Order: sequence, then structure tokens, then C-alpha cells
Amino acid sequence: MITSSDVYRTPLVAALRGRRVTEPAPPPTTTAAPRFPGSVQLRHVDAGSCNGCEVEIGQAFGPVCDAGRFGIRLVASPRHADGLLVTGVVTKNMATPLRKTLEAVPRPRVVVACGECAIDGGVFAHAYGVAGPVGDVVPVDLEIAGCPPEPRAITAALRGLSGR
Ligand code: SF4
Repeated sequence: MITSSDVYRTPLVAALRGRRVTEPAPPPTTTAAPRFPGSVQLRHVDAGSCNGCEVEIGQAFGPVCDAGRFGIRLVASPRHADGLLVTGVVTKNMATPLRKTLEAVPRPRVVVACGECAIDGGVFAHAYGVAGPVGDVVPVDLEIAGCPPEPRAITAALRGLSGR
């Protein structure tokens, strides 16, 4: 028979009562990016990605990293967002939609360039259909390096925005 004192000796209850169950928040990734203490909502824009970055973003919000527990959420509309999470080099066809999507985000807002393609064009730089990296089309506040970035790197960078 399990008694109430047995329940309080379980590892989960001991962890909840005795110490933090998550690691402390990382230091802010960049001093230039606006902060959204406690909660940041992002609209993801694929500006021309190979979809590798999207797979890793999916893992960042999956059960292992679970970015949502740090107040980071992906939302369906830029009008509900604090900023954009942009992947891929910006193709010529996506340059105007990216600008219009950013205009729909209320201020203060943040633009995150996720992956080498978004930061500097990566393997698609100078391709015929490419307008340029994200920074050539809209102002970028935060960069997440990697091709693709690891889910933990994505989570850690976004935690710098929510501060959790
Ligand atoms: S950074 Fe790498 S994984 Fe991400 S879109 Fe570019 S090529 Fe694909």
C-alpha cells in the first residue's frame, strides 16, 4: 500500500519541492534585440528554405526541448506576433511577402534570422532566384547560426527574448 509519505519521497515530488526542474535562463543572446519578458509570440516565415531549418524548429517545439515551457510560441498570424522567425535565403518571389508580413507585426517587434541561409545566404547565396539574405530585405535583430541550427541552439536563442 502506498502511503502519503511514500508519495512525498518520489523523485518527481522531491525535485518539485527541493530544486528547479529546468536549467536557469541563458543570458540574452544580443543586446540589440527587443525583449518580451515572460512570453514571446513568433510568426514563422519560410523565405526560401530547404526545410532543414523547419525540421529543427519543429524539434525545438517538440517534447524534448519544449520551447513552449519558456514562453515561446509560434502563432498563425503576424498580427498576433511579437516578431518573425525567418528561415532560408530570401527568394525574389518572397521578398515582398516578407516585407508585408513584417509590416503586419505590431511594434515593438523582433526579426530572428534562423540558419546560415537566412544570415548570409548559405549554400544558396548568389543563386539566380535569390534576392539576398534576410538582412538585405528586412532589419534583423537576432541571428541563430547553423546549417541547420540545433534545436537546443534555437531554444536557447529564443529564451534570450522571453528571458525564461
Ligand atoms: S541553413 Fe541549411 S538547413 Fe537551413 S535552409 Fe539553409 S541549407 Fe537548409
